[in-house]
Amino acid sequence: MRGHKVTVIDTDYVLGGTTANTTARITAQQGLLYSQLIKQKDKETARLYYDSQMAAIEELEAIGKKHNLDGDFRRVDGVIYVEEETSISELETEAEAYQTLGIDGTLLKQGIDLPFETSAELVMRNQAEFHPLKYLKGILEVLEEKGVTIYEHTRGKSLDGDMLTTNDGNNIHFKNIIIATHFPFLDYQGFYFNSFKISRSYGLVVTTSTPPPENVSLSGHDGPSLTTRHIIGRDNEHPTLLFGGMGHMSYMEKDMIDQLEKLRLYADQKTINEERFYAYRAQDSMTADSLPFIGCFDTKHDNRFVAAGFNKYGMTNVVLPSMIISDLIEGSDNRYHEMVSPHRNKGVLQQIKQHATTPMESMSVEAKNMLKNYPNIDDVELSAGEGAVVKDGMLKKGLYKDEENNEYYVVDNRCTHMGCSLSWNQPDKTWDCPCHGSRFNFKGNVIEGPATEDLDVEIKKDND
Ligand SMILES: Cc1cc2nc3c(=O)[nH]c(=O)nc-3n(C[C@H](O)[C@H](O)[C@H](O)COP(=O)(O)OP(=O)(O)OC[C@H]3O[C@@H](n4cnc5c(N)ncnc54)[C@H](O)[C@@H]3O)c2cc1C
Repeated sequence: MRGHKVTVIDTDYVLGGTTANTTARITAQQGLLYSQLIKQKDKETARLYYDSQMAAIEELEAIGKKHNLDGDFRRVDGVIYVEEETSISELETEAEAYQTLGIDGTLLKQGIDLPFETSAELVMRNQAEFHPLKYLKGILEVLEEKGVTIYEHTRGKSLDGDMLTTNDGNNIHFKNIIIATHFPFLDYQGFYFNSFKISRSYGLVVTTSTPPPENVSLSGHDGPSLTTRHIIGRDNEHPTLLFGGMGHMSYMEKDMIDQLEKLRLYADQKTINEERFYAYRAQDSMTADSLPFIGCFDTKHDNRFVAAGFNKYGMTNVVLPSMIISDLIEGSDNRYHEMVSPHRNKGVLQQIKQHATTPMESMSVEAKNMLKNYPNIDDVELSAGEGAVVKDGMLKKGLYKDEENNEYYVVDNRCTHMGCSLSWNQPDKTWDCPCHGSRFNFKGNVIEGPATEDLDVEIKKDND
């Protein structure tokens, strides 16, 4: 903390966000990124990005050792595999990029003893895995010892000068503020609403009798593109594996139960699985040029910072703000800053991709929703625990029948962020926005931003 007095606020409870539902591979191997970066930017940027990610892995390891954190941190090799012969050339191009940049890695042809068949494997050495919540629980204890104040259930709502106002009307005066709220709230002020696309992915935790070797962390490039992480200590007798995959953009609005079932089928093709412990969905923000946004929130304030847009590689990229923003606060240079600054030069193509496609996708999903024929609120029959979008006169509403007392929660069907129509997510019992990823519980309370305002809600009795 370098001598600064630090306060953390969280709209929910700390450690309850996306980080609680991540696969937690800690890796500089982020798909076929390095050939893309050389083409899109240049060799120097591609190498600098690799250096930044490796520095983040070392920092996580060093902090874990220094504070004796029990986070199951261990070094593994990252492996991107392809199943089809026709995909090998893509790995070859990436392997050439590794060679050009001096990245420690190699391309193998069926060179790793995996429980399923592959055509080729691209290895990046010396990566890592951990259990993020165990690790962060230890970090919280260290922060508390150092006198950091943490306010949970406190939502940041607005900024005026050097004052942050929270949802319960309290004001916090700050010298510097870091907005690390996943999708930045106050995104209008920083023009962030067009900068990120939301990608959703699914996770499944199973025990298996045929685990992949413990020293590799896998990521499929073709086929169902599954990723894996070993879960240590869950069940010593039966190795436990986390499978991630079935990702898609939020505006594609896929059914969660169908996606989880597909993930289960694919996972069962890869390893012989026994017991299933968890199945879930989570989402992350993606940027047009695949680099995160870390630095000054806008160009008008030198004491407002942002850390977002981690492209499903947040385990390394959330470490960078601790290096970069602390240097910026102290007026020191940081070698990674310009590369990941939200105000970096992104080139014309990336700018178009960033600012034009998100509104177009939002409009197309809105148009699709307008054509849907929703049942009338008075005609619909819901079982307890069920929800649906319904028509109420000229308006669309969200209707949910409570399990405890058979009351109905009727909420506005428009997201309070930018007015997109919300979809009902039955397994999570939430209202989800396909445009920018905001989520609300069935009572209409925000559980994930960028929205900061709850939905209007009316509670009706069975006979109302
Ligand atoms: C399925 C999936 C798998 C992934 N796998 C990997 C992987 O293997 N390796 C990897 O490196 N990355 C992975 N990622 C990406 C990584 O998990 C994320 O990038 C990272 O967890 C994001 O961290 P965060 O701190 O930005 O967000 P969060 O963990 O969501 O934290 C943000 C916090 O801000 C709070 N908040 C929100 N709004 C407000 C507000 N207005 N006021 C106050 N608090 C607020 C939230 O309650 C939350 O606690 C994966 C992502 C997904 C979705």
